[in-house]
Amino acid sequence: MSTRSQFWTEDRLTFLVANARVLSAAKLAKQLGCSRNAVIGKSHRLGRILGKPDGRSAEQRRRDRLQHQRERYAKNREKICKLHRDWYRRRKAMPVPVNRPPPKNLSLLDLKLNECHWPVTDEGAPFFYCGHATDDGRSFCPWHHKEAHGYRREYLRSSRN
Ligand SMILES: [Zn+2]
Repeated sequence: MSTRSQFWTEDRLTFLVANARVLSAAKLAKQLGCSRNAVIGKSHRLGRILGKPDGRSAEQRRRDRLQHQRERYAKNREKICKLHRDWYRRRKAMPVPVNRPPPKNLSLLDLKLNECHWPVTDEGAPFFYCGHATDDGRSFCPWHHKEAHGYRREYLRSSRN
């Protein structure tokens, strides 16, 4: 019984060796009518005869790949930042009530993601939270958002005059 492969005939081997440094493994496989893995496997058994079709060194390919990844990341980052900026400008902020709304006194377990997380308990446990509706992506209702951030802005505005 012959141990030689039925597939790798002289013609196919000649074609493989002749084109190993010209075509990619996928293109060789397509021409030969076998899988890419078969081409790569045979190439290894023949002493790694596959070359780089575009003539770039491994180091150059690595550098090109990194450069490509960097460019793609920069492009996507710009796109995501723009989307976020647009969303931030377009969103309609909820109006701040004139008087402080009475807290709903929700426990941490009852509190949902879009409900105000302002703690309203003066002393220790059990802790309760405001629980009024919040704007998208905020932790506090309009009243408590102003309480957390507005005073600082007003202070800065008054100190400027
Ligand atoms: Zn609140």
